Amino acid sequence: MRIRPLPIALTVLAVLGAGCAGGISGGIDAGESPAPATPSVLVQHVQSDWDADGRKIKPTAIVLHWWAGWENGKNIDRLVKDAENNKSTYNPDAKSTDEHPVVGHVTVQVGVTGDGKAYQLTPTLDTFARHAKCANTWAIGVEIEGDGPGSDHYVGDNEKQFKGVVAVVKELMAKYNIKPESVVADDGRSGRGVVSHKQVDAKCKWADNKPAGSGKTDVDDKYLKRVLKAVK
Ligand SMILES: [Zn+2]
Repeated sequence: MRIRPLPIALTVLAVLGAGCAGGISGGIDAGESPAPATPSVLVQHVQSDWDADGRKIKPTAIVLHWWAGWENGKNIDRLVKDAENNKSTYNPDAKSTDEHPVVGHVTVQVGVTGDGKAYQLTPTLDTFARHAKCANTWAIGVEIEGDGPGSDHYVGDNEKQFKGVVAVVKELMAKYNIKPESVVADDGRSGRGVVSHKQVDAKCKWADNKPAGSGKTDVDDKYLKRVLKAVK
């Protein structure tokens, strides 16, 4: 008679065991981890710090560029190579608006190729990069593969790429709370929204108040307006 309680105890353990196992497998299958954030459109590529030396910016704007080159969407590595080649020619301790340094050094956070793919080229999107003199400290650069009106690869003619540009600009706007406006201060040292390199270049001044612009035409007003309309 003394052995009678044993089957009951085993039954209880079996039930507890089954419940526990069910809980674990249910947790894995049901994906109880936090809800995933909106997926990024950015393809992680290179992740180079170049000469940022860990410096970060607080982005209040996005600067749109075209990089006047075309290799059917395979041009992202040319953009990267340009940055790498120029690395040793720039003194990272010189602020580009504090003196008149040799310019020609381009690094950038994002590149959008002709096929509409958006690549993140820096470790974080707020890593400092050099793409627009005055705007480097307050804006994220987006280089667009292609050129201006009248060229064989005017960015405004590439609808697939346009969609890619709009998608990444929207993502950056949401991430950094950037509004669909287009404002550059008179000295070029601050700005808000989505702006063109052309806008920044026209207002950029050296520390001695002399114009620092070099007649940049990217991106043209029509293209900027279309992007602004599409991201509203
Ligand atoms: Zn530019």
